[in-house]
Formats: sequence, structure tokens, C-alpha cells
Amino acid sequence: MLTDRYGRRITYLRISVTDRCNLRCVYCMPNEGIPWQSHTSILSYEEIARVVEAAAALGVNEVRLTGGEPLVRRNLPELVRLIAAVPGIEDISLTTNGLLLEEMAAELAAAGLKRINISLDTLSPEKYARLTRGGDLGKVWRGIEAAEKAGLSPIKLNTVALRGINDDELLDQARLTLTHPWHVRFIELMPVKNQLSWGPGFPAPETMFMPIQEILALLAPLDLEPMPQKEGSGPALEFKPRGAPGRVGIISPIGKKFCENCNRLRLTADGQLRPCLLSDEEVSVVPALREAGDLVSLIERVIELKPLGHELEGQVYPSGRCMMQIGG
Ligand code: SAM
Ligand code: SF4
Repeated sequence: MLTDRYGRRITYLRISVTDRCNLRCVYCMPNEGIPWQSHTSILSYEEIARVVEAAAALGVNEVRLTGGEPLVRRNLPELVRLIAAVPGIEDISLTTNGLLLEEMAAELAAAGLKRINISLDTLSPEKYARLTRGGDLGKVWRGIEAAEKAGLSPIKLNTVALRGINDDELLDQARLTLTHPWHVRFIELMPVKNQLSWGPGFPAPETMFMPIQEILALLAPLDLEPMPQKEGSGPALEFKPRGAPGRVGIISPIGKKFCENCNRLRLTADGQLRPCLLSDEEVSVVPALREAGDLVSLIERVIELKPLGHELEGQVYPSGRCMMQIGG
């Protein structure tokens, strides 16, 4: 069983399958774009599956696929199948912008995907196009319907809370849980790399940050009942609006830091293992994969590097990669 220096059990591997994306969200990547990784520098599906096997041998039982946009990588269901066949992996999930789900949800579910998180920052098609630099909100809704039809459950909708941008809609988004069994989750904006300017028409990113307390105040009309936190249940604080089939969650890496319970390890598309999202430390698995090294002991070494927590409060920000290059 994998335990780090601070006694945290590492059971969750978050894998970025690509740094490419069919959107350009303002908080995730710089206005001017980023140079993509070449196809040869990203891990093949077989290589990713070998990393999962090694991690599973050490006690990892849950895998999430992310990106960039994971659904733009060709034949993603094949990777889901490979990972589902790894002994010890009990849960596979996916974080997506939802644009390609309409076409792919059924195949993903058949391959072994259990559940899905879909990013949805606004209910307004115009605002969506502005925040994503051109996205079509109608396509996302059709993707959500397809995910539901394919039996992916629960469906979690993720919203980055942004003062002055979508704070007027957070209550309406949370109200979706009154009529659907969805989990609507609000995420605090994280200062990862491109936090200087989001381009014309956007205020300075630091003025848009909304801490958990401010988000909760906006949701007060829903009469939220806190739900008990289960071990390994993830970073979201969960609430049940009175009488709702769904849930509301808040992911608050800054306002209510959760590093002491962090059970995660991350793998970037180009094969860097990162012990923490919010620190630049990373170690490549590529030599071990391509030159027959010992993956299991490499993963153990990376776990040893896992910091006690991020240091955003001391103004230590990760600067090496933007969110889509890490795999948010
Ligand atoms: N493309 C997929 C998507 O959008 O869901 C997966 C990758 S995306 C990087 C994963 C999540 O990170 C999304 O929910 C996105 O909203 C979130 N994210 C990106 N940049 C962020 C930031 N600076 N602060 C907080 N969340 C961020
Ligand atoms: Fe792409 Fe997701 Fe980043 Fe938006 S948040 S640019 S969809 S990777």
C-alpha cells in the first residue's frame, strides 16, 4: 500500500492523455496559445497502461482521464478498455468539456467508463463562447444527455466560479440539482501559469477569484445540508439542497485547503509524474518505460517527493506549465 512521508495513502492516478484541446478556455491557457507536444513525445496507450499497472501494484485503485481535452485523442475507448483490464483498478472516470460526448458516450461506457465530469461554467451560450473562446454550449448539453443515456453516473458538472463573470448564475446552476440527479460543483479559480491577462474584455484574474465562503453565501437560498466526508471521496465538500435528487459540491484548494487528505498522483501526456498539481516538481517515466527501468520503484520515489501541501498562500505559484499541459 502506497503511503507518502505524511501518512497519506495514494490511491488515485489522474492521467492527462493529451495537451491538445478543441477549446481555448481563458483561465486554462494563454491568449496566444501554447505549442503542442509532438505525437512522438506523448505516451502511447500501451505505455500509459503500463504506468497504471505499476501504480495499481502499489495500491492505486482509481484512475481519472483528463487533458487537454481527452476526447480529442483518437480512440480513447481503447485506453479505457486497457485500464479497465488492469487488476486492482476499480474505478475509471473522465473529465471532459463534453463537446464530443454526443458521439462517444455510449462507446466509452461500453469500454468500462463508470462516471463523468463535464465542465460547464455558464448557462448562457454567449458567455460560454466568450469563456471558451468559441465553444458551442448546445453541443455540451447534447453531450450531457448522451452521457445520461449511456448510464454514466453520477454526472458531475464542474464550474469555475468567477466574480463578475458567472457569479450571477451560480445559484441557477446549483438549482439544476433540484430536478436532476447531477452533482453541480463549484471550483475556486487556481493561479496556474496564465494568470496575468485573459485578453480583451476580462478584468485582472486575481479580481475574479471567489473563495468558498462567497460561493456558499450565494447558494444560501438552497438551504444546503452538509454531507459527511467519506475517506477517499475526493476534495469536494458536498451538500444536499433540501429535497433535491442531486448534490452541490465545492472544491476549495485555497479557501479551505485540502492537501492534508490528498490521495493523488498525476501523469502528464508527455510522461511526467507530478506529485502535486500546484507545484512544479515532476519526474519523467519515459526512461523507465522505454529503457526497461523499474517503474514501480520510480513511482515510489515520486510519492516520496509529494509535498505536505501547496504554498499558494505564500505566493508560490506553479510556473512551468499551464493547466491544460498538466491535466487539470
Ligand atoms: N478539457 C477537459 C475539461 O475542460 O473538463 C479536461 C481538462 S480541464 C484542464 C480540467 C478542469 O480544470 C476543468 O473543469 C477546468 O474548468 C479546470 N480548470 C482549468 N484551469 C483552471 C484554473 N486556472 N483554475 C481552476 N480550474 C481550472
Ligand atoms: Fe480545454 Fe478543458 Fe482547458 Fe477548456 S478547461 S481549454 S476545455 S483543457
